[in-house]
Amino acid sequence: MGNMVYLKNVATLSMDTTKCSGCGLCLDVCPHNVFKMNGKSAKIMDRDACMECGACSRNCPTGAISVQSGVGCAAAVINSLLGRNGGECCCGPQTDDSGAPRSGGCCG
Ligand code: SF4
Ligand code: SF4
Repeated sequence: MGNMVYLKNVATLSMDTTKCSGCGLCLDVCPHNVFKMNGKSAKIMDRDACMECGACSRNCPTGAISVQSGVGCAAAVINSLLGRNGGECCCGPQTDDSGAPRSGGCCG
């Protein structure tokens, strides 16, 4: 998934490198390798690969990263990467045993 590109020049991801402590957490949590280390701080290398999952911003201890997240499908992708849902990119059954619609998935 490292080379996937979404719409160009629309990602809301931004970063204030003056706040970066260089901990490297954003590199660890980003599923699309958007960041690279540049000396003692991280740097956005491929903004167009960002799917706005929000993991980097949520985990950055210094508040250096800003992104408008909240896309439910991104949660499903991350859960599948983490091996949840049996590795399936899915937010769960959309119908119950009787076939009736059910909520409770990330989109429901
Ligand atoms: S998580 Fe935040 S502080 Fe750590 S390297 Fe990334 S931007 Fe810098
Ligand atoms: S929002 Fe998600 S995909 Fe985008 S840079 Fe942060 S961790 Fe990577």
